[in-house]
Amino acid sequence: MKHGGAPLLLLEEALAEMRRQATPVRECEQTGLAEGLGRVLGADLQSPVTVPGFDNSAMDGYAFRAADVTAGVETLPVRLRVAAGDPPGVLAPGTACRIFTGAPLPSGADTVVIQEQCGVRDDQVVLPAHWTPGAHIRRAGEDIEAGAVILRRGQRLDPPAVGLAASCGFTRVTVVRRLRVAVLSTGDELRPAGGAALRPGQIYDSNRPMLQALLARLGCELRDAGHLGDDREATRTALRAAASTADVIVTTGGVSVGEEDHVKAAVEAEGSLSLWRVAIKPGKPIAFGRIGASYFMGLPGNPVSAFVTFLLFVQPFLRALQGEPAQPWGTYPVRAAFTRLKPDNRREFLRARLDMRPDGSLWAEAHARQSSGVLSSVVWAHGLVDIPAGRTVAEGDTVSFIPFGGLAP
Ligand code: AMP
Ligand code: MG
Repeated sequence: MKHGGAPLLLLEEALAEMRRQATPVRECEQTGLAEGLGRVLGADLQSPVTVPGFDNSAMDGYAFRAADVTAGVETLPVRLRVAAGDPPGVLAPGTACRIFTGAPLPSGADTVVIQEQCGVRDDQVVLPAHWTPGAHIRRAGEDIEAGAVILRRGQRLDPPAVGLAASCGFTRVTVVRRLRVAVLSTGDELRPAGGAALRPGQIYDSNRPMLQALLARLGCELRDAGHLGDDREATRTALRAAASTADVIVTTGGVSVGEEDHVKAAVEAEGSLSLWRVAIKPGKPIAFGRIGASYFMGLPGNPVSAFVTFLLFVQPFLRALQGEPAQPWGTYPVRAAFTRLKPDNRREFLRARLDMRPDGSLWAEAHARQSSGVLSSVVWAHGLVDIPAGRTVAEGDTVSFIPFGGLAP
């Protein structure tokens, strides 16, 4: 039997191929705005209103008409008071209005001076020596014009987007239906936490709960397909069952080409599969295929590899299926607080933590144990340092840092 064999694929090539095969979900549903948090918009959102709907004061102060304050005038009688929520009122010529932040500008007024710069004498306001006509006013429509598209189809509703939609009066939104994702872990050694005590050779299944948590954060509907032993027939049966209910099946473990790795053969028997040896570390190999109408993604079993390949492959793919446009990863230049003397022929993602030095520079410290079984290193890390294939790193070199948050929604 030949081990390995397939040529090494670049990360970008694998991602591009997955995107090419992704047919975005079209079905949409209505949801309350708050419940829509984290979901992807299925239709453009067009504002029925102008925001703000009226000219209003940006400060607490006094409003007046600039033309009334000719040379030599330093005081104006205060004849009107408008607070936020009040109707605007009408400013009489030659007078001032006591006004507060968010209050509508009375008709006839066109300038606001801030209260800290004014004096008050009886019912008169003493204007500062210098002020600017038209100052401290927030114009109607400064944020949004009526009819403008405020959020586009394919945009994920994050908290600012929820706020923006609310500012236009929306209480409901149209979102793409949730993706149904089945998670399967494989391996005779795995036991669920909470069950019987582990026997020698057994370990707790960490990947399935971790992948489920990652999927929940992406707004997916989980189809827990359970845990499978290393058995060809059982794997086939489970995959077939998962394919009948899920848009995407994600498995961990069993995708290498060892004798106990049955996922590859089972997927090939039930559908079609590409086994990619992607030139990244950790992560190779990744399996991508189809079973019936479902997509199949097979991740490595090592927990760190499962986590990293989820972020690098599964997440962008699921986002494409949800109709989100492709987005570059948030990558930041930082200084390396480590050395890497030996170049690797694979692009490597090191778990690293950022530290700000007194001079304000950001340094990435790599975890001392980069083995793909050390899950505590992922919890410790803030993100990944992305080291191109063939590169060495000296302490102080500029390297690319991808915060986990830059890979997450
Ligand atoms: P495999 O890819 O099946 O060869 O597994 C590689 C390594 O990851 C082995 O040490 C497995 O015991 C471990 N592993 C596989 N699946 C899981 C899992 N769900 N949780 C924790 N460790 C796992
Ligand atoms: Mg295994």
